[in-house]
Amino acid sequence: MRIEQIPVGMMQVCCYIVSCEETNEAAIIDPGGDEDKILQRCRANNLQVKYLIATHGHPDHVCGNSRLKEETGAQIVMHKDDAVFFQQPEVRNYFSMLGLPESPPPDMLVEDGDTITFGREQLQVIHTPGHTPGGMCLYNPPDCFTGDTLFAAGVGRTDFPGGSSRELMDSIRTRLFVLPPETIVWPGHGYGGSKSTIGEEARSNPFLN
Ligand SMILES: [Zn+2]
Ligand SMILES: [Zn+2]
Repeated sequence: MRIEQIPVGMMQVCCYIVSCEETNEAAIIDPGGDEDKILQRCRANNLQVKYLIATHGHPDHVCGNSRLKEETGAQIVMHKDDAVFFQQPEVRNYFSMLGLPESPPPDMLVEDGDTITFGREQLQVIHTPGHTPGGMCLYNPPDCFTGDTLFAAGVGRTDFPGGSSRELMDSIRTRLFVLPPETIVWPGHGYGGSKSTIGEEARSNPFLN
């Protein structure tokens, strides 16, 4: 699987373009702005984008969905719990203060254990609630895209609506730290570094030790 990491938007979300080297089918994980930059990279590699995948529904991770869907025809994918959560009027109001473009509704809802296929590659959904109710990580050994659940030397905030620090810690310990230690962690923001490993985080993440 080809992986390209691109920092995007004012929150410097780590967007990932992941693609199958044999077929050039691709998925974009967390396109949080800078759509022109993302599209340019897709064209440069002649990619056919099938999915726009949100690790979670926060506006800084989904604000590029509308434009990218229009330009590529890709389907928007989200965990079913965040699809419901972010539709609630009080939640939409809360996050609208950021002033970012809203995502169109998801075309495909997923849950724990589902796989998202592009070309000969597959991402497996690992439901990791805590940062948001429907937060998820995407796993294709040896790579794991951890969104705002786990960062290099950090963890996601839990003080937004729908957050729970108990759930977040539980998700990290029981769903992520059980993966092989050499698993590469590709985080949703680059605070502390643009990537890490499960072994390194289990050993030295200051929020978990
Ligand atoms: Zn977030
Ligand atoms: Zn974020």
